Amino acid sequence: MNKYYWIVTYGCQMNVHESEKIAGILRSCGYTEGTCQEKADIIVFNTCCIRENAENHAYGNIGALKKLKKQRRDLIIAVGGCMTQQVGAAEKLKKKFPFVDIVFGTHNLSSFGQMIEKKLSTKKTIVDIWDKESAVDHEDISYRTSYPNAWVNIMYGCNNFCSYCIVPYVRGRERSRDSEDIIKEVNTLLDSGYKEITLLGQNVNSYGNDRGECTFPQLLQKICSRKEKFRLRFMTSNPKDFGEELVRVIAENEQICNLVHLPVQAGSDRILKLMNRKYTAKEYLEKVEMLRKYVPDCQLTTDIMVGFPTETEEDFQQTLSLVKEANFSTAFTFVYSKRSGTVAATMDGQISEEIKKDRIMRLVDLVNQQTRRLSATYEGRTIEILCEDFDDKRGQYLGRDEYGRMGYFQADRNLIGEFVKIKIDKTSGVSLEGTLAE
Ligand code: SF4
Repeated sequence: MNKYYWIVTYGCQMNVHESEKIAGILRSCGYTEGTCQEKADIIVFNTCCIRENAENHAYGNIGALKKLKKQRRDLIIAVGGCMTQQVGAAEKLKKKFPFVDIVFGTHNLSSFGQMIEKKLSTKKTIVDIWDKESAVDHEDISYRTSYPNAWVNIMYGCNNFCSYCIVPYVRGRERSRDSEDIIKEVNTLLDSGYKEITLLGQNVNSYGNDRGECTFPQLLQKICSRKEKFRLRFMTSNPKDFGEELVRVIAENEQICNLVHLPVQAGSDRILKLMNRKYTAKEYLEKVEMLRKYVPDCQLTTDIMVGFPTETEEDFQQTLSLVKEANFSTAFTFVYSKRSGTVAATMDGQISEEIKKDRIMRLVDLVNQQTRRLSATYEGRTIEILCEDFDDKRGQYLGRDEYGRMGYFQADRNLIGEFVKIKIDKTSGVSLEGTLAE
């Protein structure tokens, strides 16, 4: 009899990739992907605790399964991801949701299959959270969901301790993968037809610092020694470690997309210092200038947070002026939320929700203006996109250009996985619509 799985993923790209690893494990245990949560034999929540919203959302969705679990005692509910790694989180989950069957951590994924077996044979609740000293990162990925794009972890954890961020506490210190293993994984992906590889790490610029054998720019250079056409992306870069060697490598290798995601977080030096970001607004803008000198057509995206403790209107105005000066093609904007266990959570001067709301609206408005202005420059141009999927609702194929901008078009044959040229007829926000040019 077929057994089905259903995975609910919260948070960033790294978690989406982690869910691919979880799916691979479930498949090796004999499960196949279900069509809906209600019919699944195992439901896995891959949680994220970086932002309060994602955490609250996960708690709400787990709670909503109480009724289903009552009706189907044999259903297995598993909760993993970085939310479970917080101090006291496993106990909280057990108390709040006694019907949860398995609670697992971020770095014992390799034993997830055994946990399921144990649950099935003992019927007992399994709680297995990693201990930082014995973390083993799960690098075996047997199932991917995103052809022609693929994500490859190059490192785990973070050493930076930005004062608002929970990542170093729940993901541990930086651990870089062996460069030969990474290159082998990338080569296998390219050999099997993947066209776009995104290298993942919390701070890719410090890749290799813990190994001393290969730096991040050297890793990129080695990957780019493959001469066939493919795209290489990476995320995330901490501006404090973003240097000239890396910029030169981006400029010299056409496989590396001319799009850099460089999270600035704030434009006020006082706030940046309180955030423990270790750069000033001026230093950030100097790096942007250097990038644009070497790679003139480079686009830049960023993360910006508003409402950090003690942020004044003047601090916020400095953020707005940095946004204008850096001319981001788009930005991921967030409202600061208190993460318990972080330094910022204990700071005086927490900002009211009303002020945070007002600032985020003004920031989003400015970012949207910049995005629209850039989008308008696309009209009438012919661009190359990598066709990724077919949108049933629109009846159109879709794909991204090297700057990550989504383009829609019609075609009478399946072009997924191919680089195609489209002439842009109209733009809307960040997306583009065009006709096949060749
Ligand atoms: S660099 Fe800062 S924000 Fe990014 S993961 Fe590390 S501590 Fe968190």
